[in-house]
Amino acid sequence: MSQVRVRFAPSPTGFFHIGSARTALFNWLYARHTGGKFILRIEDTDKERNSPEFLKVILDSMRWLGMDWDEGPEVGGNFGPYFQSERTELYQKKLKELADKGKAYEKDGAWWLRLEGARSMVFDDHLKKEIEKVDAAPMVLNDLVRGRVERAEDRDFVIFRSNGEPVFHFVNVVDDIEMQITHVIRGEDHLSNTSKHLELFKAFGVKPPEYAHIPLILKTDGPGKMSKRDRGALIEEYQQRHYLPSAVRNYLCLLGWTPTDGREVLPIEDIIQQFELSAVHQSNARFDERKMSHVNAQTLRTLPAAEFAAIARPILIQHKVIDEKVSPERLAEVLAIIQEKVISVEHLPEFMGFFFTESFKKDENAFANLTKKGGDPAARLRELLPHIEACEWTDAGIEAAFNAAAAAHQRKATDFFAPARFATSGQGGGPHLLGILRVLGRDTTLGRIKAFVN
Ligand code: GLU
Repeated sequence: MSQVRVRFAPSPTGFFHIGSARTALFNWLYARHTGGKFILRIEDTDKERNSPEFLKVILDSMRWLGMDWDEGPEVGGNFGPYFQSERTELYQKKLKELADKGKAYEKDGAWWLRLEGARSMVFDDHLKKEIEKVDAAPMVLNDLVRGRVERAEDRDFVIFRSNGEPVFHFVNVVDDIEMQITHVIRGEDHLSNTSKHLELFKAFGVKPPEYAHIPLILKTDGPGKMSKRDRGALIEEYQQRHYLPSAVRNYLCLLGWTPTDGREVLPIEDIIQQFELSAVHQSNARFDERKMSHVNAQTLRTLPAAEFAAIARPILIQHKVIDEKVSPERLAEVLAIIQEKVISVEHLPEFMGFFFTESFKKDENAFANLTKKGGDPAARLRELLPHIEACEWTDAGIEAAFNAAAAAHQRKATDFFAPARFATSGQGGGPHLLGILRVLGRDTTLGRIKAFVN
């Protein structure tokens, strides 16, 4: 089989939302899976609605998600230009080709594609006038995702408007031909366009590519399609919230496809290896913010420590949690116990501020919970103090001190946990308590516990 050539063909008329990102991703995955080429083509023929700002967002977001393109803007290629706005001459030439073959004709200033089939005049209720219908043979599509789809166009359609601008269907097909696209992977909302596209391929006498129409993404609740206005819809939002790009990409893979090895959080190399168009779901996918966040948290855990530190450090500096003077070694110690518990980089400043300042925030709810069941946290900490003053400052040593305090006062070791956690971190939850105390160090721990007791 010849080399796979797929394309992502966005129109830069709005921000980059997860539906577009997922379409780009499935194309990219298929190219990487098959060793083919991934082409980025900008469908910017609608001059009124296109903007350079939107184009920049698309390119930036694709780069952020790690979807590199083999041909397209900024990288070039043998089939350019890759902006439709720069291909006008080609479209004129291709229109002439159809006109010369008698497949296109002019009427009322516009150019129409002539369908083959018996013609008759019928009254159209909707348009409230007589129109010419064509009894064209149905176009049969064997979609790689949807299976067999049959649909007949029943009237000629415009391919060049009277203002001289080519119509989407025409440029889309011309470019798929000229760029030698082998597989068109796009959203199911385009399925209804495909019969027109197949008619155009027929008119040009070119074998159409394979098609794979991928399922829609529905909003979290309700039957509707996810729209740009829905929370979580824009890729930029995840960028701003410091989501890991690899996690966002991993989650997008799950919108309409399931990894074959049963894992949901997995390295991109494994996804590339497993990805098949035939395994893409027919049923609609549903956006689930909680799952996205879960995938992000799981991905965070698997990051090498140095990579995690490289992401965390500038954010912590920016939020004034640490300054440049904090050594990489000290930060690494803290991050080592944070990494398995924090669910998003976005939460890091709040989650670990207490390691670096004595004026850390105290969670009122956590404090209320301490005394709720009639406990006396100060009394517990007074009982604990002599034991942790004397112990060896390791996880095991500190744990032994809690056990010794429990034995001395006929309590459970856990009775001391929440008070110790609150006194040293101001929180009701967070990283493992023994880790917190060990990393805070004996002096800071004792200082904070004494401050709380007094
Ligand atoms: N420009 C079209 C869109 O953004 C591309 C359709 C296609 O992939 O064929 O929806």
